[in-house]
Amino acid sequence: MRIGSVEGRATLIIPGTGPTEDISGIDIQTASHGRFSADTLELLQEWEDLRQWASTVDLATTPVHRVKRNLLEAPVAQPKQIFAIGMNYSDHAAEVNLSIPTTPAVFTKFSSALAGPEATVALPTASVDWEVELVAVIGIGGHNIPRESALDHVAGYMVGQDLSERELQFAGGGAPQFSLAKSYPGFAPTGPWITSSDEIADPGALSMVCSKAGRVLQKGTTKNLVFDLPHLIEHLSSVVELYPGDLIFTGTPDGVGFGRSPQEYLVPGDELVSSIEGLGEIRQQFTPWIGATASADADASGRSTVTLG
Ligand code: ZN
Repeated sequence: MRIGSVEGRATLIIPGTGPTEDISGIDIQTASHGRFSADTLELLQEWEDLRQWASTVDLATTPVHRVKRNLLEAPVAQPKQIFAIGMNYSDHAAEVNLSIPTTPAVFTKFSSALAGPEATVALPTASVDWEVELVAVIGIGGHNIPRESALDHVAGYMVGQDLSERELQFAGGGAPQFSLAKSYPGFAPTGPWITSSDEIADPGALSMVCSKAGRVLQKGTTKNLVFDLPHLIEHLSSVVELYPGDLIFTGTPDGVGFGRSPQEYLVPGDELVSSIEGLGEIRQQFTPWIGATASADADASGRSTVTLG
């Protein structure tokens, strides 16, 4: 089951559509005659019932809409919490000259940074970097979740980009500004939809690619995670309660611009394509940040285009 968001409404994405074409979708609330909500956060609380229903939808009698990919929004627009993990691939830790953490390096991406899978992002500086990441969506929440049953709490997976402004990230000396530097408007595009966890046999063996103008920048696999997803869920939930819809950005493999010699960053006109096996792809175009007093229009609804005035 694939659940996307179109005009703020949860939409069942019909399988079998190509990666670059317009896709087809079914408005869940309408097609279920109100049995299910249009709000994905509510759907995550009855995910199994939704899966049952989705498996029985009769495509011959249900209204199906063509959906332009650039109208897809962030599948979870307003999660209570967003977690992200730094240096969670040994190859990436090495390229940025940081040691492999002995405990997960946790920060947040603020929800105002969320954007849709085809979001255009304005570059605030000349040192914005890319990080393709597997993003887990929590279904059943909980506190003190043991790693043995941790994956039972995952509703599904998405592709994410942990866009990062490297200058601010390391500013301030002793306490790096990871959370702020990774939360400019549009810095957390996710999608293209939630792929339910039953369709992913092993989240610890997914290949991922990030490329720009056909040039592969990152090529990795979640086999190389330092702390795998069950470990992360156990660790996070040993401190905070996890809620339905919470997102976990699990870290990025090597190949980021900061670790290159010479260093390389995104420039206006670039298009970044990030994909993960079985989950689809997200696509970001980059524009100049207009004006020093820019006020972001992008909000947690994850509109597909981030406009700056
Ligand atoms: Zn990251």
